[in-house]
Amino acid sequence: MSGCIFCKIVEGQIPAKIVHQDDLCVAFEDINPVAPTHLLVVPRRHIATALDLVPSDAAMVGHLHQVAARLARERRIAESGFRTVMNCNAGAGQSVFHIHLHVLGGRPMQWPPG
Ligand code: 5GP
Ligand code: ZN
Repeated sequence: MSGCIFCKIVEGQIPAKIVHQDDLCVAFEDINPVAPTHLLVVPRRHIATALDLVPSDAAMVGHLHQVAARLARERRIAESGFRTVMNCNAGAGQSVFHIHLHVLGGRPMQWPPG
């Protein structure tokens, strides 16, 4: 979708530190990390929010989580613990309206999140 920063990263139009790519998704380092490991796993297809997911997206969303887990193992944050987050809409902190799974780890995580 034109004007979407994550579509531009997926299409290689703007740079990012890409750590994984496949047919369904791209994962890259967050530009403003809030944990020692902070990755974003993004579907190639533009979907604005979690509210726009439909039943046929189920396998793709499951795949995002599997990629997140694989990256967490690679980064050696799996055993100590990591967090996956998908913010939905501005009140929950969503600032880029192309869904993405945050993968956060490498430090203790507080609960409840702010
Ligand atoms: P949200 O606030 O929508 O849940 O998360 C958006 C995330 O995207 C933020 O953590 C922000 O730092 C990250 N981000 C925004 N623009 C860019 C960019 O151009 N490149 C990268 N790598 N991350 C970005
Ligand atoms: Zn997009």
